[in-house]
Amino acid sequence: MSQIMFYSTNGAAERVDFRQALLVGQAPDRGLYMPQRIPVLDSELLSRLSNMTYARIAHHVVKPYLGDLVPDEKLQEILNDAYNFDVPLEEVYDGKYVMRLDKGPTCSFKDFAARLMARLMQFFLSKQGRSIVILTATSGDTGSAVAHAFYRLKNVQVVVLFPRSEVTQRQRKQMTTLGENIHALAVDGKFDDCQALVKQAFADPELGHMDLSSANSINIGRLLPQAVYYFYAWSRLSPEGKPAVISVPSGNFGDLMGGLIAMRMGLSVRRFIAATNENDEFPRFMRTGTYQPIRPSKNCISNAMNVGHPSNLARLFDLYGGHMDELGVVHRQPDLQRMRQEIFAVSVSDQETRQTISDAYRRYGTILEPHGAVGWAGLARYLREVEDFSPCISLETADPAKFPEEIVRLTGVEPPLPPAMSAQDGLTEQYQEIDARYAALRTALERTLK
Ligand SMILES: *Cc1c(COP(=O)(O)O)cnc(C)c1O
Repeated sequence: MSQIMFYSTNGAAERVDFRQALLVGQAPDRGLYMPQRIPVLDSELLSRLSNMTYARIAHHVVKPYLGDLVPDEKLQEILNDAYNFDVPLEEVYDGKYVMRLDKGPTCSFKDFAARLMARLMQFFLSKQGRSIVILTATSGDTGSAVAHAFYRLKNVQVVVLFPRSEVTQRQRKQMTTLGENIHALAVDGKFDDCQALVKQAFADPELGHMDLSSANSINIGRLLPQAVYYFYAWSRLSPEGKPAVISVPSGNFGDLMGGLIAMRMGLSVRRFIAATNENDEFPRFMRTGTYQPIRPSKNCISNAMNVGHPSNLARLFDLYGGHMDELGVVHRQPDLQRMRQEIFAVSVSDQETRQTISDAYRRYGTILEPHGAVGWAGLARYLREVEDFSPCISLETADPAKFPEEIVRLTGVEPPLPPAMSAQDGLTEQYQEIDARYAALRTALERTLK
């Protein structure tokens, strides 16, 4: 099996192997890494997935990209340790399922990617005797997933930037109560400001000595693990191999990219639904063929999806033969026709999101939170427009207990607090506040990491 190399979507960086792409995060030409070849899993293997554990399925999906970089047994050990929690698939009605990706330690789907990425990074770093600084921007859930995934790993410091007034108290506490190698910065700005600051730090030669790496959804190590649960869902729901319709609540489009990669790897998918909140730059692009970032991004209740220019669109365009640079400028159009065949894009307003939470509880007794509700509403919209009897799966990406006020108001029930969240309630928070200027970030980094 020849080693899969990774190229940059901007086309001006050297090809690297998985280990290099993982440790550097963003390519030096500011593009995102993509696999040069997407391996296809044969149908005999696909038919056997239904009898495998999640961690075993993960092995088959991830292994081809790693080649010989991680010995098989070590990889399985890492995967067994990373995926030690449930992945429930709940039938809501009549072949329409919700897959709950919220049972990890920080109760969002970002645990899937962060836990594997952290363990792989630790494996490579300890072999090299190297240490790095993970610098990451979060709209809520990345920061906590990354912080928990790296907590107490010896050769890694983590700096998390979050928009001060756009995260809930519980989300904030998941980042600020750990301490030790985890440093939290509250930015007086929006998520897009945090993301821009992080990008600027990566491009700053004066920080070169810090060995910065990113754990954002731009890291290829975050992306590949997100292909796994699509195979898992399909293996459990579609033993006869029928294609599925899968709805993905989307912000930075890393989750959807994982699904599209799974499809290229042989997963049988009828249609993906890309459901955004009112930050509808992608649905508008799909309709009009013109891409226009939303600045500033809109503040919706599905706060982890308040993204006005999704970083993974560079990958998505690349997958369909286009080229979008890191600023969102389109240099070559993707194959829009094929995109429309494979992806149904919808934007869901806050009002519709709230209505969906309330209806899902009233009609089916299903508790959704705002992100999962955007996905579910997107699926409902699709099913009204397209006659389709395929199994349908909508991703629930966070635990409803992260958004208690909204859910109590809409359903009258208090979502039960998972043990992982009640444990942090009494802990002390530690974080620095900075304004959204690059100079402020640099000072904070130099002070924190000296
Ligand atoms: C990050 C996040 C999303 C969006 O995922 P992307 O990969 O950025 O599209 C959706 N829901 C929740 C709860 C999240 O934390």
